[in-house]
Amino acid sequence: MTSPIKKSSTQTLKKSNPGGAKRKAPAFRSAYSRAELEEIFRRFSIQRPEPKGELEHVNPFTLVVAVALSAQATDAGVNKATRALFKVADTPQKMLDLGEEKVRDYIKTIGLYRNKAKNVIALSQRLVDVYGGEVPKTREELVTLPGVGRKTANVVMSMAFGIPTIAVDTHILRIANRIRLAPGKTPDEVEDKLLKIIPKHWLFHAHHWLILHGRYCCKARRPECERCVIADVCKSGEKTCDVPAPLVELPQQIIGATE
Ligand code: SF4
Repeated sequence: MTSPIKKSSTQTLKKSNPGGAKRKAPAFRSAYSRAELEEIFRRFSIQRPEPKGELEHVNPFTLVVAVALSAQATDAGVNKATRALFKVADTPQKMLDLGEEKVRDYIKTIGLYRNKAKNVIALSQRLVDVYGGEVPKTREELVTLPGVGRKTANVVMSMAFGIPTIAVDTHILRIANRIRLAPGKTPDEVEDKLLKIIPKHWLFHAHHWLILHGRYCCKARRPECERCVIADVCKSGEKTCDVPAPLVELPQQIIGATE
């Protein structure tokens, strides 16, 4: 009697996955339940009912410039440089009239200032040539401006035009991973996950709440868990305290005062 031929592993695989179709990655699930997510953002909303970004600007154009300048720089550092710059150039045309060399002088305290000055002039030129001097409102258009990436576009859409987005900066990337809210290696991955899990009615302010929480409480080197209002809900392995801080409204933000 001949022994039955053993099926090869490829055959077995084909049977269980006919056609060899790519399997879908499992749907993302946050470590937090819906009720916990709701509670986290409810508490943030009591702490900071009207959270604001800390980059100084006077109109959508100066916001685009400020955000583009803020890459690898602190908001306070950018504010120091732009206060004088925006007094003389608060429109794309005025920026072009000022010229690249003078722009460079105004922003030379900011890292990568040579390249950034080039981009400020180039984006001003494009705004004048293509958009009649106005800042466009869609992400697709915004990212065509020199020096404007997805993060800058998201900040501008949210802060200048009130369109809810999440712009993942260093603070949000850290918190999303540290507290297992929306773990991901890249800002895009984290943005995608946050957009899926943040309750829609909290989405508009969530961006600033997370940034400010990261900047002032869940800090990079050492989270200050004893001052944290979500210490009981937080699922971070790094947390040092389980007792939430008293839930009260925080004093008005002092724009540009700190990192
Ligand atoms: S408890 Fe600590 S680790 Fe968790 S969010 Fe608060 S500050 Fe961050």
